[in-house]
Amino acid sequence: MSTTNQNYVGDQWVDAKNGDTFATYNPARPSEEVATYPNSDRADARAAIEAAVEAAPEWARTPGPERGRILRETAAILADRKQELTELLTTEEGKTHAEAGGEVQRAIDIFYYYAEKPRDYLGDVKAASGARTNLYTRKEPLGTVGLITPWNYPIAIPAWKIAPALATGNTLVHKPATNAPGVAIAIFEALDEAGLPDGVANVVAGPGSKVGEEIITNDAIDAISFTGSSAVGERVYKDAAAAGKRVQTELGGKNPTIVSESADTGKAAEIVSTGAFGVTGQACTACSRAIVHTDVYDDFVSALVDEAAAIEVGPGDEYDMGPQVTESELKSTLEYIDRAKADGNTLAFGGERLEGGRYEDGYFVEPTVFSDVDPQDTIGQEEIFGPVVAVIEADGFEDAMSIANGVEYGLSASIVTEDHTEAEEFVREIESGVAKINEKTTGLELHVPFGGFGRSSSETWREQGDEGLEFYTIEKTIYDNF
Ligand code: NAP
Repeated sequence: MSTTNQNYVGDQWVDAKNGDTFATYNPARPSEEVATYPNSDRADARAAIEAAVEAAPEWARTPGPERGRILRETAAILADRKQELTELLTTEEGKTHAEAGGEVQRAIDIFYYYAEKPRDYLGDVKAASGARTNLYTRKEPLGTVGLITPWNYPIAIPAWKIAPALATGNTLVHKPATNAPGVAIAIFEALDEAGLPDGVANVVAGPGSKVGEEIITNDAIDAISFTGSSAVGERVYKDAAAAGKRVQTELGGKNPTIVSESADTGKAAEIVSTGAFGVTGQACTACSRAIVHTDVYDDFVSALVDEAAAIEVGPGDEYDMGPQVTESELKSTLEYIDRAKADGNTLAFGGERLEGGRYEDGYFVEPTVFSDVDPQDTIGQEEIFGPVVAVIEADGFEDAMSIANGVEYGLSASIVTEDHTEAEEFVREIESGVAKINEKTTGLELHVPFGGFGRSSSETWREQGDEGLEFYTIEKTIYDNF
């Protein structure tokens, strides 16, 4: 049964001023409507910004421990709703139950984590040169921030922006992605229930071209934290920076796993397969390139094909890999598959849309492996954002590193090796925000910094962990002479 959702603006749950709505549909069964949302425009975003600006002075003065108490309560409310939110995430975005449950738990953990930060996060005491001087620093909130997020982690990414923004005393306006806004709106229901003062956190659903544009250009917004594609994010960065805002953009990836001559090819294939096909390849950190030493190349391709063939695709909780989120994302993946064939890459496994039977008319595609990919081919260079991996042959470690670094992106990278020196060289030379040894490219714990190099990030600030708080604060130095 479809549910009806509203924006949360000031102290009220409201429809879009224009009365319009849009619907989301289950990607595993597209005829099934999941929910409707306000199809908001600039006027709704402006109302939310005004509410957030009005609430800012008082929230900034609210003691840190009290801000933390509300975040802790929010986490507890989300935890009580975990099962329901897991179902909603699966039906709206398509992740398997296991993946969706993991993501909801991560959002809960993020709220618990940042709930403890406002007790300790304020500033430092320094030794003054004067004998009768107190010298110290204070980290103060920026004011009102705009948060714009993608559909592929529709609750975790909003959580890792909202929680640190509130912990540090900012008010905010959030625009969730149009493809899957439901679980983000649930965060605001939890904040409301937890007793967050009116106007501190506001959410407005609607298109990026209207709601998003208003947020990034409105003079009253002090900072923008954006996660999404490089194409959109680079424009957001330019426009928001030109409007004088602090900006953080976390963007796309083309993540490699290097498979060394010393690697166990079975283990390497498992690592590449989970990195490439987990969450249907719809992760910014998904493994999109396996760069494999000549000596183990044939063994690796055969082991990877076995891994891909063992993946059971289907809806809900009984299968390993769900559908793509929308028809247009599926179409984009199928176009990349056609392009790879046209470029002469060898289709080693998959490559077809799955229809009928349990797939019905859902947006399912086979996990797909292309071998004999030239590093400069389209699927060796561009982010696909579907379950497709390009296997590229390398004739040694230096060649592998040069291929790994030979793209515009640099978000996450890994190497499978038994050679410690090679692993150390990899860490030193890889141009990537995350570097992993003997592990998949996806997955990062919530208490470590996350961000990319090159077109994967504006490289201005990192998210998550303690670093995630820095973006939302400005530091003051105080001389107190007595
Ligand atoms: P997207 O199309 O760039 O959209 C991201 C967000 O921006 C959505 O909320 C979108 O709204 C909004 N938006 C669109 N046009 C806008 C505009 N002109 N002004 C302001 N906001 C605008 O990305 P996506 O397809 O949702 O997400 C997939 C991408 O995100 C992939 O490239 C992936 O690699 C990247 N990603 C990066 C990270 C990271 O941490 N580096 C994490 C996850 C995903 P609508 O939904 O209404 O279009």
